[in-house]
Amino acid sequence: MVCCPCQSGQAFVVCCQPLHRGRPASTAERLMRARYSAYVMRDPAFLYRSWSRATRPPKRELATGQPTEWLGLEILRIEQGGEQDDCGLVEFVARYRNGAGEESLHETSRFRRENGRWVYVDGECRQEGEA
Ligand SMILES: [Zn+2]
Repeated sequence: MVCCPCQSGQAFVVCCQPLHRGRPASTAERLMRARYSAYVMRDPAFLYRSWSRATRPPKRELATGQPTEWLGLEILRIEQGGEQDDCGLVEFVARYRNGAGEESLHETSRFRRENGRWVYVDGECRQEGEA
C-alpha cells in the first residue's frame, strides 16, 4: 500500500486520491490534507481547483516555486469546518526541505464553501518563535 502523503495512516487510494480526482471534501480538514498531498505529489491542477476563485493565484505560479521535498504534516487545531459548517479554520505545521536545510510552515488556513464545496481561502503564517 502507498501510504497517503498527508500521514493519515490510510492508503493514498482511499484517502486523498479520490479528492484529487474530484470527490468533494466532507470537511475543511479533509481538503487541507488533500491540498498538502497535492503539494507532495505535485498536482498544481488540484491546488488551483481547491482554491477560492477570489484568492487563487495564476495557475502557472502553482506549478513552480515549490520546496524540493515535503517532509510531513501535523494538524494542530481545527475550528468549525465540519459537515454542517460553511467556513472553518485549520492550523497546521508542514515541514519541508529547501536547498540545504529543513524549514517549516506554520499556518492557520481559512476555508469556506463555494457552491457547496470546500475551498481554501487564505492563511496566516506564523514565524517560529512567535507566541
Ligand atoms: Zn490523505
